[in-house]
Amino acid sequence: MKKNTLNDLAVLGGIPSFEEKIHVGRPNIGSRERLMERIGNLLDTRWLSNSGPYVEEFEARIAEKAGVRHAVAMCNATVALQIAIRACGLTGEVIVPSFTFIATAHALEWQQITPVFCDIDPQTHQIDPNQVERLITPRTSGIIGVHLWGRTCDVDALAAVARRHHLKLLFDAAHAFGCSSKGRSIGQFGEAEVFSFHATKFLNTFEGGAVVTNDAALADKIRLMQNFGFRSYDDVVCSGTNGKMSEIAAAMGLTGLESLEEFIGVNYRNYQQYRRELEGVAGVRLLNYDAADESNYQYIVLEIDEAVTRISRDQLAAVLWAENVLARRYFYPGCHRMEPYRSLFPDAGQNLPHTEHLVRRVLILPTGTAVEPEQIRRICGIVRLAVCQGEALSRLLGHGEAVPVPRDALDSAAEMWPAEEPEPAPAPEARLALPARPALIG
Ligand SMILES: *Cc1c(COP(=O)(O)O)cnc(C)c1O
Repeated sequence: MKKNTLNDLAVLGGIPSFEEKIHVGRPNIGSRERLMERIGNLLDTRWLSNSGPYVEEFEARIAEKAGVRHAVAMCNATVALQIAIRACGLTGEVIVPSFTFIATAHALEWQQITPVFCDIDPQTHQIDPNQVERLITPRTSGIIGVHLWGRTCDVDALAAVARRHHLKLLFDAAHAFGCSSKGRSIGQFGEAEVFSFHATKFLNTFEGGAVVTNDAALADKIRLMQNFGFRSYDDVVCSGTNGKMSEIAAAMGLTGLESLEEFIGVNYRNYQQYRRELEGVAGVRLLNYDAADESNYQYIVLEIDEAVTRISRDQLAAVLWAENVLARRYFYPGCHRMEPYRSLFPDAGQNLPHTEHLVRRVLILPTGTAVEPEQIRRICGIVRLAVCQGEALSRLLGHGEAVPVPRDALDSAAEMWPAEEPEPAPAPEARLALPARPALIG
């Protein structure tokens, strides 16, 4: 149904635009036949884990695509980060952006390393290399840059800072598989880079990740650490953990890789459509992708300038949720405002003005192969209507905490909602609806 007036909006009593919930990060799935064929094979051979043929092939493909010599596939990117951090010998303090998924910070804190939060460039949302340099102390051992949104952070400036101060440089490239910076593919920078193949990422292995590096000794160490320190049968040569990727995960990854160009093509087409349809909506900025770099275009990132739109980001989120468009506030409220960091560093926000500003403005819209052009057209129509009549709508909705952001009781993604906003008890219908939960929601 086309929405023409405010009364048509579901948040004000109209009929929701979509019957089914539209999630951000709905998985891209390649050829079912190819996947089932591979699963059949691994069941036939009973080779389910421990450097099986699919994991080896997947590692070769990842290394090839990233243009690096070594790839170690892992059970997820968080463990991959933990292992890369440890294999690089990081200790004391490591500088990271606060505007990132919490795993970047947790991977350090989990092994008693202090994440020191750095601000971002407000234009690109990437870590600010100048501030990185100012945050260095005698305890600093490294920097972890994050290539956010499938854009790339300033790899050259970060490498220069790292070189000047003899620091290790790692990259959380969870969003950046298939991306490049100035003609060089992501994967080649720093000591190592870490990809995520979580189901919500544009290439997935259900759960999974990989460390890539050109450093043979580092790759060897990482491979030992991810397999309990086993050099060979009965020979454990160092401390380790279990970070192995399973064969079924690699089978999914190989299948997805065969459709990689299609996934990127659909993301690019969606991004162009969003750009066209939101053009001229005052106060709504769609984060652009630098045309000089390759990207996977996996996030549609809006910035809502409330001074212009008169409707806040949270109010717009409430409007969309009521229409069953589950837009997300990544990475609200910033790592420094999540525990344990909020208690450890209560004043961290003073150094992070751009992060604090941005977390109140960003809204992520659905894309990927599960989203149809017609759906994007309707989503943009809702945004346009809400923003064009922002002042009146904002008045009707009420300001601040009173905004009835619809909570999807099925939405497990806790990072969206800060701890200080208590989760309301799910309505009885919602509880009954639980078995209908989709296989994955971001
Ligand atoms: C998804 C993500 C991770 C964690 O990846 P997992 O594979 O889920 O462990 C780390 N960092 C960033 C920036 C991410 O988006």
